[in-house]
Amino acid sequence: MPAELLDGKAIARELRDEVAAGTARLVARGVRPGLAVVLVGDDPASAVYVKSKGKACEEAGMHSVTIRLPADTSQARLDAEVDALNADPAIHGILVQMPLPKQIAADSVIRRIKPEKDVDGFHPVNVGKMLIGDTDGFVPCTPAGIQVMLQRTGVKTAGKECVIVGRSNIVGKPMVALMLQNTPQANCTVTVCHSATTDMAAHTRRADILIAAAGKPHLIKRDMVKPGAVVIDVGISRVEDPSSASGYRLVGDVAFDEVREVASLITPVPGGVGPMTIAMLLKNTLRAAERTVA
Ligand code: NAD
Repeated sequence: MPAELLDGKAIARELRDEVAAGTARLVARGVRPGLAVVLVGDDPASAVYVKSKGKACEEAGMHSVTIRLPADTSQARLDAEVDALNADPAIHGILVQMPLPKQIAADSVIRRIKPEKDVDGFHPVNVGKMLIGDTDGFVPCTPAGIQVMLQRTGVKTAGKECVIVGRSNIVGKPMVALMLQNTPQANCTVTVCHSATTDMAAHTRRADILIAAAGKPHLIKRDMVKPGAVVIDVGISRVEDPSSASGYRLVGDVAFDEVREVASLITPVPGGVGPMTIAMLLKNTLRAAERTVA
């Protein structure tokens, strides 16, 4: 029997409704949560993400600010923008859209954002808190969204083998940190595969929960997946498709059609992990704003 679809869109909708209700409660207390998104340059994919983040914010009743800076913006200019947002009481969350142009040191920008406004969860203070299991910080939106998706679908994680493909700071590594915590929604035995892993299939075939975040179209084939596994596809890649109006289509890291035949649950691309990422960004922004209220 083919796997059931893990409908990230529906769970994200649920979350966004909860965030909108929380926002309304906070507004009634005189605080409107505010998110500032900073976009440097004119990368088309980044522009699409930024637009959808702003729209989602407004839909939830939040205050949304988008700051667009030219591609040749200097580090000093961007630092000044971040400083101003750090000091702005109407802004509770700051997100600087990655990737940044070459002349800017992304690490230094991330460190400049106040940890209590770092709703992307990339500041070393928040990364450290996540690793030690301190829930007081912010967790990166994509891995956090995946964990919520598993939880809300009733996937049992404790004692399970979780294999994560990818070790980036925004997906793979935080996913590891989350899934190995000693909590009911984690408690997995975690294995990480990456670009230097030899015989990746030997690892992925052991996975009860397989999370693919390599950014390599259709890397995960049917024979790499254990029958009955839960498969989460984080990857989003554009591949040429002359039959579509845009000339391309989006595909994940998982060869969906064939893997669906063996998995028990699987996320589609698009419509799986992506919507959860935005929902978690809103949730983090609401939390950041709630914390400013005594
Ligand atoms: P990245 O390029 O920073 O990291 C990719 C990781 O995959 C690296 O750690 C690398 O070691 C590993 N890798 C690459 N090729 C591999 C291979 N052949 N075998 C095993 N491991 C391999 O990418 P990222 O920022 O972590 O994003 C990964 C993918 O997820 C991309 O397609 C990205 O677009 C997508 N993404 C989606 C969302 C979402 O909301 N759905 C959010 C973030 C990223």
